[in-house]
Amino acid sequence: MRIIRNLFIALIVLAGAAAAVGYVFRVEIGAAVFQRVVSQVVGRNVTATLPDGLHVALCGSGSPMPDATRMGPCTAVIAGKRLFVVDVGSGAARNFGPMGLPTGAVEAVLLTHFHSDHIDGLGEMMMLRWAGGGNAAPLPVYGPSGVEAVIAGFNAAYVADDGYRVAHHGADINPPSGAGGEARPFSIDPAVQSVVVFENDGLKVTAFTVDHAPIEPAVGYRFDYKGRSVVISGDTKPSENLVRVATGADLLVHEALNREMVETIGAALAQSGNKRAAKIFNDILNYHTSPVEAAQIAKRAGVKALVLTHIVPAVPVAYLNALFLKGTGAAFDGPITMGEDGMIFSLPANSAEINNGRLK
Ligand SMILES: [Zn+2]
Ligand SMILES: [Zn+2]
Repeated sequence: MRIIRNLFIALIVLAGAAAAVGYVFRVEIGAAVFQRVVSQVVGRNVTATLPDGLHVALCGSGSPMPDATRMGPCTAVIAGKRLFVVDVGSGAARNFGPMGLPTGAVEAVLLTHFHSDHIDGLGEMMMLRWAGGGNAAPLPVYGPSGVEAVIAGFNAAYVADDGYRVAHHGADINPPSGAGGEARPFSIDPAVQSVVVFENDGLKVTAFTVDHAPIEPAVGYRFDYKGRSVVISGDTKPSENLVRVATGADLLVHEALNREMVETIGAALAQSGNKRAAKIFNDILNYHTSPVEAAQIAKRAGVKALVLTHIVPAVPVAYLNALFLKGTGAAFDGPITMGEDGMIFSLPANSAEINNGRLK
């Protein structure tokens, strides 16, 4: 017993000594750690090292509701070496650096609809792409009709700052012609419910109508590349058209709102006298999809795996994931992932594999 007691005391003394050394040399140790992290993070570009295929990274798995762990809606799609971004919510562009995704290399943004949570990171994305890549042409932003007004508004808001950057860093670093965004609107024939937005170099991107009524237009996107496919739902309640377009796809990235959890918050708000917020929490119940419904859709479409994103309400601790996902396992046999910022799903070209990983 005495030996154990002496050992215990010695360990405490050692731990105390280590803490004291750490405190005394905190500047020197901090400098060494900072140097190491900087050399690991700066210039990291995962798109250069990923195998050929289709890769989906969650740059924002959150929703309009503030959540310290999840930025606003944002899904990055890497096809070969080409980088695309579907929606850019608040804070999402700030995930790109830590995730090793080069903002300067973003080829285009595709918007699903114009709810603020899906566009309010656009200004930051446009600025980082311009500053980070020295692009001489504005960022192409695809979206249903109406995207023109959104981009014109962002461009107008950034005019002064665009000028500051050119004046300060020079036109070589910030070519004036590359500032801001350029709207690429498309429309969808109601009789067809989908349209090929572009198709080149083995990549096909299809937009399709979803049901986010009363919000119109609202679309999702399907990416097809070298025998692999991913479908991104955008915001929607259960949509038959989505099931049609997603049929046979490899991966479905679907929005999810847990009604019971939202109702719990709504009831608490009503009880506290905040009728305005309570009404909003009640209103949002009817134009989203529950996790169980998303799982049922995944099963009906026959996809291989389901990733839930646009998580409503905020679920800041993983312990609550089981509550959020309650009942999904019985609805879909394949893997179901509760989306978190930094996750990546890799679909190597011409294979059946789906590999999960983390970029941060
Ligand atoms: Zn949304
Ligand atoms: Zn929405």
